[in-house]
Amino acid sequence: MGTLMVTGGAGFIGSHFIRHWRGTHPGDRVIVVDALTYAGNTANLDDVWDDIVFEKASIDDLAAMERVLRTHHVDVIVNFAAESHNSYALLEPGQFFRTNVMGTQTLLEAARRVGLARFHHVSTCEVYGDLALEATELFTESTPYRPRTPYNASKAGADHAVRAYHHTFGLPITISNCANNYGSHQFPEKVVPAFTTAALDGKPLQLYAQTENRREWIHVVDHCRAIEAVLERGEVGRTYHVGTGDEASIEQIADLVLDELGLPASMKTIVADRPGHDRRYVLDWSTLRDELGWRPRVPFEEGMRQTVRWYAERRDWWEPLLDRAPVNEGDWGGVRE
Ligand code: NAD
Repeated sequence: MGTLMVTGGAGFIGSHFIRHWRGTHPGDRVIVVDALTYAGNTANLDDVWDDIVFEKASIDDLAAMERVLRTHHVDVIVNFAAESHNSYALLEPGQFFRTNVMGTQTLLEAARRVGLARFHHVSTCEVYGDLALEATELFTESTPYRPRTPYNASKAGADHAVRAYHHTFGLPITISNCANNYGSHQFPEKVVPAFTTAALDGKPLQLYAQTENRREWIHVVDHCRAIEAVLERGEVGRTYHVGTGDEASIEQIADLVLDELGLPASMKTIVADRPGHDRRYVLDWSTLRDELGWRPRVPFEEGMRQTVRWYAERRDWWEPLLDRAPVNEGDWGGVRE
């Protein structure tokens, strides 16, 4: 595919994508652009460091983005860069709109000026708002956007900007909206590593009051394979959903973590719910399956247990990150019981 610029490549999914792409496309050049916010971690790229070019820069810096694109003759952008934590968005909503909306628009503008073969934008199921727990419908690629939180709204704004640059300026874009990812190297603020690292430290697992809220789970490598399928076989201008149908409630995740570590259910504790806490998201991903031939490969429970074991073995990776997390869950209400 030539030269790929991967933004947000020092984060969780971006770094997995780079590792995956290096394995499947060893002849391509990979330029990583990352502002190294608290969530960015160059240690995530240790095993591929010698094969990439790293540029510390922000996607909301137009001159820097144009310079990187021109200097490295970039053919394809894969945009993972974002503020990604719903809870942090309650404390710093402006930062989410600056990075996710204006940052994406700035990157699009740089791409428009330079010319590209493809701009792929990585988005989320959360742009559609939430579903009732008992709902039978799924989010399809034509479901209207109905975001309810600052993170969701900022990702929705970014998606609209990407489509606008396609329809107005002819930028060759694709978008993927994905379900909740789990896997190694996820910043310990997110629920799976947060529960696992708390359990490993003998601390309570803090569950929001609406413990029955569910998510659709996908292993991060399956997400990376889906983006690869869209880059290789997707149609310009289109949006593709990436899901699995594997739903589990937050309480079921806590139970699985405790079971894998051989710890008691009494380590669960209930904290005040997060304002705007969405109940459920489920994607219809039949387009990706039927048109591009993609299917998830990692079985949910096996992948989740393997992930828990990775954190159990890699305290050296996550312990230094705990102090960098800007939010303590429950900051908006405290522990209830
Ligand atoms: P992450 O927080 O682990 O990584 C984000 C990366 O972006 C970090 O390395 C950070 O330093 C970088 N970054 C932030 N602001 C930047 C800026 N202005 N310029 C350049 N780099 C910047 O997030 P993640 O979980 O890997 O998510 C990656 C993308 O996938 C995001 O766009 C997110 O919305 C999307 N997504 C995530 C999930 C999920 O479950 N984690 C699901 C669907 C979609």
